[in-house]
Amino acid sequence: MPCTLITGSASGIGAAAREALVAAGHDVIGVDLRNAEIIGDLSTAAGRAQVIAAALQRCGGRLDGLVLCAGLGAQVQPPSLTVSVNYFGAVELLDGLLPALQRGAQPAAVVISSVASAHLPWDRNPLAAALEAGDEAKAQAVVNGAGPQGGNLAYAGSKNALTVAVRRRAPAWGRAGVRLNSVAPGATETPLLQAGLDDPRYAEAIQKFIPPLGRRAEPAEIASVVAFLMGPAASYVHGAQIVVDGGIDAAGRPTQF
Ligand code: NAD
Repeated sequence: MPCTLITGSASGIGAAAREALVAAGHDVIGVDLRNAEIIGDLSTAAGRAQVIAAALQRCGGRLDGLVLCAGLGAQVQPPSLTVSVNYFGAVELLDGLLPALQRGAQPAAVVISSVASAHLPWDRNPLAAALEAGDEAKAQAVVNGAGPQGGNLAYAGSKNALTVAVRRRAPAWGRAGVRLNSVAPGATETPLLQAGLDDPRYAEAIQKFIPPLGRRAEPAEIASVVAFLMGPAASYVHGAQIVVDGGIDAAGRPTQF
């Protein structure tokens, strides 16, 4: 039975991914702030180190799968929290758990990014240099000093850098024999989306974000793609970002992909 670690497993897309992978025969170790096998806080370096140590202890240093779903939305204050969880809470786990994945059977990892990863392209992303350099304090200072745009900058900037981080790792992870991909969901019915709808600063933009399919995704519709990427049917899919957004990216940027 493959042993798979899932962050953000207590809610939304992470909970649905957990359900889909358990149905596919995985033994899941969940990580979250509550209701998980490993209770840990991915917003701090110390919390991330504790989660990595606990995960390695629980899986005996050998992991078959990793699914990184934990994340925060643009409405969270201070915006630096969103940068820390969305970017460092994923990238540090990727790097910290790669050796354990190398010891696994048909190992694979999936990172949940967002369609927002394309909203602030790398060459215009004010967080790009600090995030790629691993300078968490600098990235935090940029978003916390950005005024009312800080939340959007934290979310789109961290998701853009996260997708780049996945793509940058494709050569080394391929050589290591571990497949690594990202999924970019559009608006999905979860507590994170609801928190944005409940915030007057973000509600209108989210309401207007209507995809060609005319509705938002259910978490299970993202989780089924995660389960595909984690399974043997995706054995040649590596370094890819799969957009699962009801067509909104194609509608907004038909010539860019
Ligand atoms: P959610 O709020 O339902 O789930 C996120 C989970 O992450 C929660 O269980 C939460 O406790 C956990 N988490 C947050 N901070 C944490 C921390 N410091 N340490 C450990 N765990 C922490 O949200 P969701 O919509 O399921 O989000 C999952 C992922 O999907 C996120 O990365 C999000 O950015 C991404 N995403 C969501 C949408 C959407 O519309 N819902 C769209 C695109 C991308």
